[in-house]
Formats: sequence, C-alpha cells, structure tokens
Amino acid sequence: MNLPEIFAENVFSDAVQKETLPTEVYKALRETIEAGKTLDISIAGTVASAMKKWAVSKGATHYTHWFQPLTGLTAEKHESFIEKEGDGVIMRLTGKSLIVGESDASSFPSGGSRATHMARGYTAWDPTSPAFVREGTLYIPTVFVSYTGETLDNKAPLLRSMNALDKQAKRLLKLFEIDCKKVSCTVGPEQEYFLIDEEQYLKRKDLRLTGRTLFGANVARGQELEDNYYGALKPRVAAFMRDLDNELWRYGVTSKTKHNEVAPSQHEMAPIYSTVNTAVDANMLTMEIMQCVAKKHHLVCLLHEKPFRGINGSGKHNNWSLTTDKGFNLLDPGLSPENNTFFKLVLTAVIKAVDDYQGILRASIASAGNDHRLGADEAPPAIMSVYLGDQLGAMVDCIVKGENYVAPKSAQTSIGVPESPIFPKDATDRNRTSPFAFTGNKFEFRSLGSQANVAEANICLNTIVADAFGQFADELEGKNDIEKAACEIVSRELKKHYRIIYNLDGYGPEWEPEAKKRGLLNNKTTADAVPVCYEDDNIGVFVRQNVFTREEAVARADIKLENYTKIINIEALTMIEMARREIIPAVSAFIEKLCSAVNAKKSVKGSLPCSAETKLIDRLSYLNDTADAAVEKLVSDLKAVKKGDIKKSSEAMAHVIIPDMENLRKAVDEMETLTSSEFWALPTYFDILYSVR
Ligand code: ADP
Ligand code: MG
Repeated sequence: MNLPEIFAENVFSDAVQKETLPTEVYKALRETIEAGKTLDISIAGTVASAMKKWAVSKGATHYTHWFQPLTGLTAEKHESFIEKEGDGVIMRLTGKSLIVGESDASSFPSGGSRATHMARGYTAWDPTSPAFVREGTLYIPTVFVSYTGETLDNKAPLLRSMNALDKQAKRLLKLFEIDCKKVSCTVGPEQEYFLIDEEQYLKRKDLRLTGRTLFGANVARGQELEDNYYGALKPRVAAFMRDLDNELWRYGVTSKTKHNEVAPSQHEMAPIYSTVNTAVDANMLTMEIMQCVAKKHHLVCLLHEKPFRGINGSGKHNNWSLTTDKGFNLLDPGLSPENNTFFKLVLTAVIKAVDDYQGILRASIASAGNDHRLGADEAPPAIMSVYLGDQLGAMVDCIVKGENYVAPKSAQTSIGVPESPIFPKDATDRNRTSPFAFTGNKFEFRSLGSQANVAEANICLNTIVADAFGQFADELEGKNDIEKAACEIVSRELKKHYRIIYNLDGYGPEWEPEAKKRGLLNNKTTADAVPVCYEDDNIGVFVRQNVFTREEAVARADIKLENYTKIINIEALTMIEMARREIIPAVSAFIEKLCSAVNAKKSVKGSLPCSAETKLIDRLSYLNDTADAAVEKLVSDLKAVKKGDIKKSSEAMAHVIIPDMENLRKAVDEMETLTSSEFWALPTYFDILYSVR
C-alpha cells in the first residue's frame, strides 16, 4: 500500500483544486479558505464545473449538499448531475447548485424557531471543508440556515465561533506585537467505539433501537484484569481496523492511532489534529465509515456512550489548541512559562472562561448517553474543572499567593535500560480524571460523548475563550506598559478563578464535597445541566460574540431537552416491550418447566428432594412479579409525563422515568442470572462482548 498515493484520493483537495482550476480562480478560492475572505460569487461556476468533472472521473453521477442538522447526525439529499439538452442529457453542476441548495427545514429540529408553514431552509457551500466523492455521489459540505437566516445546524455557529476567536485572539496578539493574519482553533478528536458481532446485535431490540443494552447482568470477566487496554488485536478486529484506515485515508482523514481500549470489545481511533471545522467534518465522516466498514465484516460498531453496564463506556477526547497562520501555538508555554506573559495571559483567559461558563460548557457535552459516563469512575465527573499539572500548577499557585516562582530544573527521565536514550520529561503528567486537562501545548477536554458531534463543545469553548480574550483586550488596549498591565490581569483573574483549578484525582470521593464548597456546579443529568443555557449571562456571551442570537441560543437548549426526553422515552418503551414480550414470558416458561420437574419428582414413590427447584420457583416468581409491577409503574408514569412543557418533561424523565427503568432492570438482571440459558433468548453480555475473535 502506498499511503501517500491513496491519501485523499476521493477528496477535491488543495492539490486537485490547483490542478483543475485556472490559476486566478484557484487563488481566489484559497484566499477564501485561508484568509476567510468572502467568496467571490463569480468564480463559483468555474469551481462547480471543475468539481463535477473531477467527481465524474471518480464515478460520481450525483451530488449532495452535506449538512449537520441538530439531529446530531449528518443529512444528505442526492441530486443527479443530469440535465436535458436537445434530445439527450448531459451532466452539469452549476455555480448556483454548488453554492446554495434548498431544503425542507420543517422536518429537522429547530426548537420551535420554525413553524411548519415556514419550512424553507437553505444549505450553503462551506468552501473551507473539502468536497469528496463517496459511493457515486459528490458530497459538498454546507451550512444549513433557515429562510430568515437562523442557523439550523452545528456548522454555521462553529464557523462563527472560529471567527470570534480569530478576531479576539488577534487583538491580544497585536498588543504583544506577534505577527499573524489568522488564528485557527485546531482539534484532534480521539474516537472510542465498541465492535460486536452482527448476529448477536440483531437479536437485541435494545441495541437496535437505542444503541445500548437496557438489560444485562454483569459478565464474570469484565475489565478487572486490565488486559484489554493496548492488548494485542484479535484477527477480526485487526482486519476491520486495516480496512477502516484504508477507507479513512482515501477520504483524507489522517487516521493515526488505533488500539484496544479498557473494556472488552472496546477500541479507539485518533486522527492527526486539524482546523476544527475540518476536524468536525472528518469526525462525522469517520463515524459513518466506521459503521459501514463494520457491516462489511459482519460486525456492528457501537458509538453509544454506554452500550454496556459494568464496564467502561466510550468518550471522545477533544484536544484543543489555538494556532496562528505562522504556526505559532498560543498554548505553547515555551521553556520558561513563568517569564512568558503572553502565554500566562492566554492560560488565564481559558481558566476564566471555563470558570465563568462552567454551566454551558457542561451543557455542551450533555446528552442522554453521556449522562451514564460522567461521574461513573470512568469519565471525568459532571463538575467542570481545569488540570494544569505539577509545573504550571505550581506556577499558578505562586502567582495567586504572590510568591516568587522558581522553575524546577528541566527533568530528564531514564527508563533504566542502559541502551535506551534519556528523554526529556513532559512538562505535565497525565491526569486522566480531569475533564479539562492541560497536556503540554493543548487542552484536552475529556468529557465529550463518543457519538457527539464535537462541534457543539467547540462552539462553546471557542466562544467563551474569545469572550475572555475580548475582555482582556478591552482592558489592555491603550495601556502604555502592556507587560505590566497583563501581569496584573493574570494575577487578579487567577485569584478570582482559582476555584476551578483541581490538580488531584477527579474520580476520588473527596472531589464532590470539595467542589460544592468551592461553589462549582455539579449537574448530573442533561435535564439538570441544560436549563443554565436559558440564563441571561449564558445567552449573552453567545450574542456578544455573534455566535448565536438570543432566539438561536434558546432554540438550541429546547432542542437538547426535547432530544433527551425523546431518547429516554424510546428507551422506556423498548424496555416495556422487551419485558412484556420477551423476558417475562421466558421466565414464566422456565418456572413452568421447574414446576413440572417438581411435580414429576413428587410423583415418584417416596418423593424426591426438589429444594433447588422450589427455591428457584420462589425467587423467580417473586422477581417476575416485581418486573411486571415495575413495567406497570413505568407505563403509568410515562403517561403522566407532561407533554408540552419541555423543562418539566425532561425533569420527569431524569427523576421519575429513569429510576423506574432502573427498578425494572434490577429485577430482570437478577432473573437473567437465575434462568436457564435454554429459556433466556437474549444474548448475554458474555455472548456479546466475547463474540469477536
Ligand atoms: P493521547 O495519548 O491522550 O491519546 P496523543 O498525543 O495521541 O494523546 O494525541 C491525541 C490527539 O491530540 C491526536 O488527535 C493529536 O493529533 C491531537 N493533538 C496533538 N497536538 C495537538 C494540538 N496542538 N492541537 C490539537 N490537537 C492536538
Ligand atoms: Mg487522550
């Protein structure tokens, strides 16, 4: 395999653009992409026709505007290139069709900001993310807005948040006389997933309808031996990963790392980081391709945050940094961060942003699936905090205490094997328990769910950091001694936001009460986390930075709660159906079999002992009744959930329906451990997690 040769072969990449476009047009397009210049409409026709020609040479007959509505997924509507000409047909893509598409917005979530009679929505070409050909269709990345201009997707606000960050960061850079045309946010998302056998998957209604198991007793061997993490790849998994890489590379996704994760059947893929906009598109495409490639291998790729209880769920670490067009990383501490005022100012801005807006940052990663992970000893808790590591942590401590900071001698590590080289020690150790950890020259936001569109978290992060930059710039502009004024800001703001820094174990039992003392938010469920988005301060920051209008911000919170409510509703209905039609009857049949065994034994002269059977009959009858009662309660509580008031119904889901589901599951999971496998038709955790070899 010649990787450079196949890399991005399905992408209308920079190289292809250069080759296929007239020089002037190519230059104008690059200016739009690199310097953010408004696209010159007059070049669209030329680009469209080159794009079509290239796509046709790759076997394409159709094109689609590819967008990211607020369903969390991507959407596409394929149009063929066909056009009538004379008696026959030709293939054409006009400039207009490239730039704008019309679509029915009323069938996508809009949080009430669209009435169905005002259904018009537009998709508009995003030239900063490259088009690609997939399965005979040219995919054109687009933003999705309504007729009246409200954003209906994740991409438009992401682009706006990138602009905000660029604008505000440049004000600070200018004050420090650092040369720069553009500041970009770069992101590397690490994607975790489960891979299971298709045959087992198809037998589980819960997996098929909700992406996770709603029942299932723990398997005898989970992850306690810690032997799966980085373990040797099983042949079927290795074959899948090989195919996945080959596919991803062809689409220009820089798949770099692959390995087994902590839980059995769990794995991870990480690409090389890129500008957040392309990183988001690449990640959305990655998730789709993962599922397609899995299918070819008769596997199923589960992207849900918590497919199985009792073992780790899946997340998506969002590595985030800020880079100028000259390649300068604003989060690079350099050799002596204590003397690097600019770095300290940037660091302080991030710390301030996370503290001031911990509520919306938490909400930006909230989902029904992710609620299962946060605070469950496998992902950082629902409390937002910042980890700085020993060195920066000590530096910040000194600033806050007004003490002089003396940097430790740069440490070197030897691995104790004479033949192997001595290597410099990283400035920060890893802290896997922090939601927001500084890792050398970037922050790793670790709370994102595995199936999330990472745009959401980055929209929030970019916006709140841009706002902090803006506030600092407001204060510094016009000052004579920038260094001195900046140091004052750093010291004042670090003191003010010191509470958000936590360098110890975020999973430890001490943290929750400590965080409470510090006044930090700890919103455990989506229903509790999202309502902060309606608060004026939290809307204000988006409005100030031109990322959302007030209406858009409110609509998004509505959609989040609505989506959460719908998901829990589907899960509850699935449980009811499985319990009634699969589980309760199976247990009942087993009880009947046991009863006949008892009767048969009793009919033998002298009567044979049957305490094993009667004990089982007793317990299972009790549990089956308990399950039945739990189903009844779930049904009636679901009926009582107030429709119409989205805040109330989401709260009911979190605090009434989920506990009901929990009760039902408890009875069922115990029954699973007591029922003969001959009668238990559902594949168990053992069947599922140990099926891929
Ligand atoms: P880990 O050991 O936590 O898996 P890695 O060093 O493998 O971390 O990096 C994880 C991700 O972080 C990769 O996608 C990588 O490209 C990305 N990354 C590295 N540097 C940066 C940066 N400056 N900005 C954004 N992402 C980065
Ligand atoms: Mg990581």
